[in-house]
Amino acid sequence: MIGIDDTDWEGGGCTTYVMYSFVKYLIKDGLINNIVGLPRLTRLNPYVPFKTRGNASLSIIINAKSENDATDYVELMNSLIDQMVKRVGKTSPGIAYVISDSINVDERLAWFYRKSVRDVVTLDLAQRVANKINARLMGGRGVIGALASLGFVPIDATYEFIAYRLEDEERPIIDPSDVKIWDRVTNPFTFLNIYEDQVLIEPHGPDPVLFGIRGDSPHHVLAMGNYLANKYNAVGWIIYITNQGTDEHRSHVNEPIPYRNIDLMGIITDIMFNERGHTQAILDEKQRVMAYRHLGISRELADCIGCLVQAWGGVKPNGNSSLYIEGMRVLHDRHIEVKNPRCPVCGGPMESAGRSGLLRCKRCGFQDKLPRILMPRNRWFLASPRASEYRHLMKPSERVGLEGLALYMPKPFLWVY
Ligand code: ATP
Repeated sequence: MIGIDDTDWEGGGCTTYVMYSFVKYLIKDGLINNIVGLPRLTRLNPYVPFKTRGNASLSIIINAKSENDATDYVELMNSLIDQMVKRVGKTSPGIAYVISDSINVDERLAWFYRKSVRDVVTLDLAQRVANKINARLMGGRGVIGALASLGFVPIDATYEFIAYRLEDEERPIIDPSDVKIWDRVTNPFTFLNIYEDQVLIEPHGPDPVLFGIRGDSPHHVLAMGNYLANKYNAVGWIIYITNQGTDEHRSHVNEPIPYRNIDLMGIITDIMFNERGHTQAILDEKQRVMAYRHLGISRELADCIGCLVQAWGGVKPNGNSSLYIEGMRVLHDRHIEVKNPRCPVCGGPMESAGRSGLLRCKRCGFQDKLPRILMPRNRWFLASPRASEYRHLMKPSERVGLEGLALYMPKPFLWVY
């Protein structure tokens, strides 16, 4: 098993492209059939401060004939990183590998993966875990993500078809109508393709990725991806198995720990909107919960004072450890509307007659002290961000019910080009 990370720099590169290039070498050498399953794209904690973009790391499992054979694969990966990576700024590439007779993942490695997706880990911890399980680490800070990727045991998983372009050519503009039609045809087995007329499959950075199609079925991402790759002149493509869209980063802890995704439950005791339209809600008079305007859930939050809610998201260490919402669920709506009853004599509408509790019929003038009608609103809902605001690990609502499906999908015959 070989893992890699931290091979991209501010001005370009992409770790998925290094893995793609590695696989292309194996194809050239007639070794493609030694790859076990699909190469794996693992997203790690989106809240770590050192990431440059999507905190991706990659790994691959190869069936090697001998230990020497296995180290040749590692050498190939190492020389590719040397050739392809510009070591500028924070870029600090790393490789982790395990040579083993068994394909089973050591529980300590799986634990390290889970911790790296949900928390901040140190280089020292990576080294200690590696020593215990006989994994070897080479290079800089990237060894953390590289080792973590080796511990990914897909239980819930998804696929991504990634197409590449020539970096020195201008990005083609992908026509929304092309994406819309394929989105409709492959739904629900692909997700987050388009939001209104905004194409979501195309990154905007300087990296070599032309587009990525995510989904629960490798065959559906293949059909859609292959069509678009031809139409938009991709130079090549590959399908990865990934942890994207699985909510794997949610730790479900209830304390505001910086750089983690946490869950809080409480009653909204105050809501404020600032001049830029961002919302700040206070839970149980103490915990600050922020929702950025572009998430598109501010309207749902308004009118929620008194509601019991569960909110989850990342904690930023900005003095008061605010939670930045990824999603929210109303568990109990305390909002009650108080209405006047109809007139018991003529059925007309009644209004307050000024003195406490006295109501007067607008139609016949009848007056009495009558009980008011209490109407609980009973509105409960799940507030999810707009499709354009999803981060890699967040589970889109259209995936609910499809969890685990990816594991029943056979590997496509054609998965790299
Ligand atoms: P990409 O652009 O490929 O999506 P990125 O540029 O956002 O990813 P990387 O270049 O992969 O991020 O750099 C992230 C760095 O942080 C790597 O060196 C990785 O080893 C390290 N890292 C990742 N997750 C953790 C974590 N949970 N704790 C500590 N370090 C981490």
